[in-house]
Amino acid sequence: MNNHSLMQRDLAVLWHPCTQMHDHEQIPIVPIAKASGVWLTDFDGKRYVDAISSWWVNIWGHANPHINNAIKEQLDTLEHLILAGFSHEPIVTLSEKLLALAPKGLARCFYADNGSAAIEVALKMSMHFWHNKGETAKTRFVSLSGSYHGETLGALSVTDIPLFSQTYASLLTQQYRVPSPDWTQAPDGVTPEAFARQQFLTMESLLAEKHDEICAVIVEPLIQGAAGMKMYHPVYLQLLRAACDKYGVHLIADEIAVGFARTGTFFACEQANICPDFLCLSKALTAGYLPMSVVLTTDTIYQGFYHPYATFKGFLHSHSFTGNPLAARAALASLELFALDPQLQRQQQINAVLTQALQPLQQHSHIANIRQTGTIAAFDLVQDKASKTPFDWRERRGLQVFQSALAKGVLLRPIGNTVYFMPPYVITDDELRWVVEVAAEAVDEATYAPASGSDVGVSLP
Ligand SMILES: *Cc1c(COP(=O)(O)O)cnc(C)c1O
Repeated sequence: MNNHSLMQRDLAVLWHPCTQMHDHEQIPIVPIAKASGVWLTDFDGKRYVDAISSWWVNIWGHANPHINNAIKEQLDTLEHLILAGFSHEPIVTLSEKLLALAPKGLARCFYADNGSAAIEVALKMSMHFWHNKGETAKTRFVSLSGSYHGETLGALSVTDIPLFSQTYASLLTQQYRVPSPDWTQAPDGVTPEAFARQQFLTMESLLAEKHDEICAVIVEPLIQGAAGMKMYHPVYLQLLRAACDKYGVHLIADEIAVGFARTGTFFACEQANICPDFLCLSKALTAGYLPMSVVLTTDTIYQGFYHPYATFKGFLHSHSFTGNPLAARAALASLELFALDPQLQRQQQINAVLTQALQPLQQHSHIANIRQTGTIAAFDLVQDKASKTPFDWRERRGLQVFQSALAKGVLLRPIGNTVYFMPPYVITDDELRWVVEVAAEAVDEATYAPASGSDVGVSLP
């Protein structure tokens, strides 16, 4: 087996996610034979650092010995079990541990098997809760501009990335959308905090006016990932929590991308010192090993469904693989690795190394909006630095950065004109510095050269 032969076989049978397959007439698929730690190895022996944690999921590196052993042991004990009416040890222990780590006030865990499904669960639970209380006019949701909550139809209805949603508009429900506190949109001289407060005014007035028909507000705390790692000040979450309480609206925190210490605290909500009504987790939950998601919610929500005879008042949602023991065991093994470093010192160190490594890029004439929250950092490729005018997306500069970095042995996957870093926590300081250096070289190559992109493509998250 070599790269070429696997690529040929792949292109004959696969349809890849989030991909215009025609692009692969020019852009080779990258076949990976094996991986260890942060390193991926292809069939020709070339190695790549996985600097985006394989789509934001792999926090402890590939083939992590501790997680591998836990799964192997579980495999010979109990591989899968129906979770309706039955239970098993890994799922109970995992629930206890997640609730102990989560913001105080969350009391119940409801499992699903991917991020979008967790969002569907939270949306349905919120609406159903109000329905059970007789508040049947509450049927709508509020999300932020640039939001991403997944791509199943319910989740897509609260997602604001037209590239993903526009085509399906007639299948989607109409929901409210308010301007994002993303500080890259702040006018010069306005601090991120002032901008967050200012942007909140629209949210406040919408809730004041329409709370009778609104079930919940859904946000990605601190970082809007798929929008291009757009970051905002935690004060927005504080104001939002207070307004949701004031107007009787639920708050759904979608920490699918930012949970598990990505932002420097175990959950991003901690930085605003708030507890949401629903906390959605997936991606890093199993350290990127197996599909699993969970919605943590409060006892108030739980009690709203508890009834001696009305079956319809119960939450009758299910997925076949809900609470899979192998996935639960992988998640537990990941939490054990966190327990070795309860102060999250490794994540603080990654934060510091990233900040320092990005410093020289401040001067780069085609880089703007360098930003960072914990272990996630990003910058935008701009045509003109003074006005921060981005490159025309049709030039596919982000894709050129991807190709250039890949040739040098680093897996980056820019989103449009945004280059970001989201490394596994097991990356060494030197590897991380090297990754940023390679990114800078790739940016040089992608921005000094004339545009070579086709005029139809766009680089996708
Ligand atoms: C990835 C993601 C989702 C969807 O999760 P999937 O497992 O891909 O369905 C939802 N919300 C956020 C913030 C995400 O980053």
